[in-house]
Amino acid sequence: MDTSTQLPQHLDVLVVGAGISGINAAYHLTTSLPETSYAVIDGHESFGGTWLVHTYPGVRTDTEAYTLGFDFKPWVGPPYAGAQAIRDYLGEVIEENDLAPNFFYGRLLTSATWSSDNQLWTLAGRVVATGETFTLTASFLWMCHGYYRHEKGYTPAWNGLDGFAGEVIHPQSWPKDVDLGGKNVVIIGSGATMATLAPAIADQCGTLTVLQRSPTYFFQSPNVEPLADQLRALETPEEWIHSIIRKKSVDEMQNLVQIQQLHAEISKRALIDMVAKQLPEGYDVERHFTPRHFPQDQRVCRVLDGDLFAKISSGQITMITDEIDHFTSLSIVTKDGDEIPCDVVITATGFDLSVLGDVAFTVDGEPVNFADSVTYRGLLFTGLPNLAWTFGALRLSWTMRADYVSRYVVRLLSHMRSGGFGKVAAVLRDRDATMKLVPFIDPEKFSPGYALRSRHLMPKGGSVDEWSMSMDFWGERSVLDSLAFEDGCLQFDPTVR
Ligand SMILES: Cc1cc2nc3c(=O)[nH]c(=O)nc-3n(C[C@H](O)[C@H](O)[C@H](O)COP(=O)(O)OP(=O)(O)OC[C@H]3O[C@@H](n4cnc5c(N)ncnc54)[C@H](O)[C@@H]3O)c2cc1C
Repeated sequence: MDTSTQLPQHLDVLVVGAGISGINAAYHLTTSLPETSYAVIDGHESFGGTWLVHTYPGVRTDTEAYTLGFDFKPWVGPPYAGAQAIRDYLGEVIEENDLAPNFFYGRLLTSATWSSDNQLWTLAGRVVATGETFTLTASFLWMCHGYYRHEKGYTPAWNGLDGFAGEVIHPQSWPKDVDLGGKNVVIIGSGATMATLAPAIADQCGTLTVLQRSPTYFFQSPNVEPLADQLRALETPEEWIHSIIRKKSVDEMQNLVQIQQLHAEISKRALIDMVAKQLPEGYDVERHFTPRHFPQDQRVCRVLDGDLFAKISSGQITMITDEIDHFTSLSIVTKDGDEIPCDVVITATGFDLSVLGDVAFTVDGEPVNFADSVTYRGLLFTGLPNLAWTFGALRLSWTMRADYVSRYVVRLLSHMRSGGFGKVAAVLRDRDATMKLVPFIDPEKFSPGYALRSRHLMPKGGSVDEWSMSMDFWGERSVLDSLAFEDGCLQFDPTVR
């Protein structure tokens, strides 16, 4: 990685993060606002974000790559794709649109200071490889930092873990040289990471135990998209196939959520029965595969071709549903008193939320506490002028929301340019003063562990549409694509320079 190219001293827009969201932002800035100067910085040595960092065996998408891909570039591979295939796709987007000159890797933003007097962000950071510092100014800051901390995953503080003599691996930091051959391996966790990792390593391990506190819902399918294949056989253009499959996926997901909400018990039973059919007669499905929550509360994990269930059925993977009491030097002891011998513990226990990319924010001399902020439609924030955050879709692929958030931000920037505005701030209207404040992600609608754990660090939402992030894809997309900027929630100031 070459970090010798200097970042410009001033930019119209600084994009933070070169993952799916940052690449999406760059595409829209380049194609819709070619006169805007911008750069994308990332602390990592290359693009991809999530799909660069995660290298554990079996890592792949859990939603279809047709929808994890962008609306402007067709996905042509199998629907559930490995990390490398996603990075290849992202690399093509960068190359085909000549975005590379705007990308600066190995640069970590550490502080951002806004001055309303000169309507500028002063941004400071570190070149990761050399430790040198850099500074620049930008008129607008577009945070595309994702939602979780990349350096380190979340590992609960279990009793005795410090004295454990074996190896502890978090899948987010998978070591290149790990040797699981013949070892007693325990994966702690129950989500998508466990479900993809366990079948991928089961053949190498001496024993492989999955220890979960509570079960997850699984949906199993082959890695094919029959409609796409059929349309391809009919020589339908790839652009059409891409667009049709994306619409179909949204419709299917929204119908599914509706059915799950209306018929929670039936949906629950159907998913559990699907799993039970994959497992041997008499298997304790009640204990290991009957979640306490309802399917619509969290993402349902996908098992491809039943690989996880096949390895459980063959005895290569043992499921244990129990809580950890403590670690000894060579084992884990559960609350029920079972002792599981282990040489390697894999903590598939999730993420730590990254609040605004762990950047220290100051606005007009005051440090910013993001938790005091209220979101304008899940993309702008009170108390943080000239800043947007691309937060993707939760139930659908992340990119489905990132696409129209990018379009909105580019429209906003264009509006500021043509109107001669140097500052935009989201400001609560008088009538919003009595509005009930609610969590940024409504726990009634979506409640993964990282969101619940970090709720106190996140901005708030409000009880009216303008101040909340919608989970209605078609509704929110059509609003944001056409929304006028004069709704009283956005305050524009003329340019001072
Ligand atoms: C294993 C795994 C599987 C997943 N599977 C799916 C799936 O199937 N479907 C789905 O929709 N979602 C999935 N997700 C969620 C996934 O994170 C999103 O789909 C999407 O990749 C997020 O893209 P992003 O660009 O917003 O953020 P990220 O991919 O997190 O990238 C953010 C980038 O910002 C950079 N950054 C952050 N802070 C700073 C800073 N201060 N200075 C400089 N750079 C910074 C980081 O280095 C990183 O490269 C998955 C997540 C994981 C971990």
